[in-house]
Amino acid sequence: MYCPQCGREYSERVNFCCNCGAPMVAPPAKPPRKLTLSRTDKKIGGVCGGFAEYFEVDATLVRLIWVIMALFAGWGVIGYLVCWLVMPHVPEAQEPAQAVVQPQTQSH
Ligand SMILES: [Zn+2]
Repeated sequence: MYCPQCGREYSERVNFCCNCGAPMVAPPAKPPRKLTLSRTDKKIGGVCGGFAEYFEVDATLVRLIWVIMALFAGWGVIGYLVCWLVMPHVPEAQEPAQAVVQPQTQSH
């Protein structure tokens, strides 16, 4: 929690500031997560990586569950293709700055 008056932060849940008595506000919330195809963690289309990022779990675990479902339930492959078509890509601006594009050296 965070005091808007004096800027004190409290790790425990308190309703009012111990310092100035102002009502507490929650710290700024993270923007809501969107289920997107993963660009950074992908084997085929990034569907499993996208699910892993959304649920904050290991992508390998998602892949494993998906493969088991594909083998035993039979809908994993179709489900993957449907998700691949339906799930949006990560917008360019939100992409983690991992791939640094090297400037093309031009020879004259
Ligand atoms: Zn305060």
